[in-house]
Amino acid sequence: MLLLPETLSVHKLLMLCRESTLPNWARQVCVIREKLGNVPNILQVFGDQVTADSRYSAQLRKQFSRQYRIKYVLPALREYDLCAFRAAIKKSTWPHADFQEPFTKLGDELLLADWNSHDWDMYQVWALTRATGRIPLPLFGGDSFPTFLDQCPLCGDVNADLCHLLFKCESCTFERSLLRYKSTSWSLFRSFLFAGDAVFDDDGRPAARIRYVYGIMDMLSHEFVNSDNSMLRS
Ligand SMILES: [Zn+2]
Repeated sequence: MLLLPETLSVHKLLMLCRESTLPNWARQVCVIREKLGNVPNILQVFGDQVTADSRYSAQLRKQFSRQYRIKYVLPALREYDLCAFRAAIKKSTWPHADFQEPFTKLGDELLLADWNSHDWDMYQVWALTRATGRIPLPLFGGDSFPTFLDQCPLCGDVNADLCHLLFKCESCTFERSLLRYKSTSWSLFRSFLFAGDAVFDDDGRPAARIRYVYGIMDMLSHEFVNSDNSMLRS
């Protein structure tokens, strides 16, 4: 609206509201801009001459508005979200944030992934495990969402949590060897599996770590789903 001709009544109304000391929608926009780190307004960004040209061209106004959103507003919103997320992690007792430490948002290139439906299934299993720190049985038809199993369905060990299933289970030694990553530390191995934003292999398919997590969950879930879910704990 700042780019509209100054003679329009809606532009005059906007200027009045911005100058007003009373609460109103235009003041609220200014407050939000301040909260986002003092994002400059569109006039400050593009300068008087450019904006003067756009006052009588709807196409130019659309073009400048789009550039302004992409270059200034969206990055500020993302940074604001990330700060809020980090602050929430520090305050809360949400232990599963560990799975995303150091936290990195997934890259925008994920939107361009040329994957088939099975690839997306694998990604969904990996992402849900990453976000919750739980065993994603509901994605395999299960009706519970446990943090550990009373007994590992693959080797028989008791109290099988994600550390056991993904890192220690001796029945998965071969699958782990395919990752070509070794560590004696669960926290390092967990970071390798879940931290960061890499989701592609060189050929564009889901990354090996995504396929690995899916493969383990797929194997163990077949032992439970449609069988004795009473063994599961939440
Ligand atoms: Zn096991």
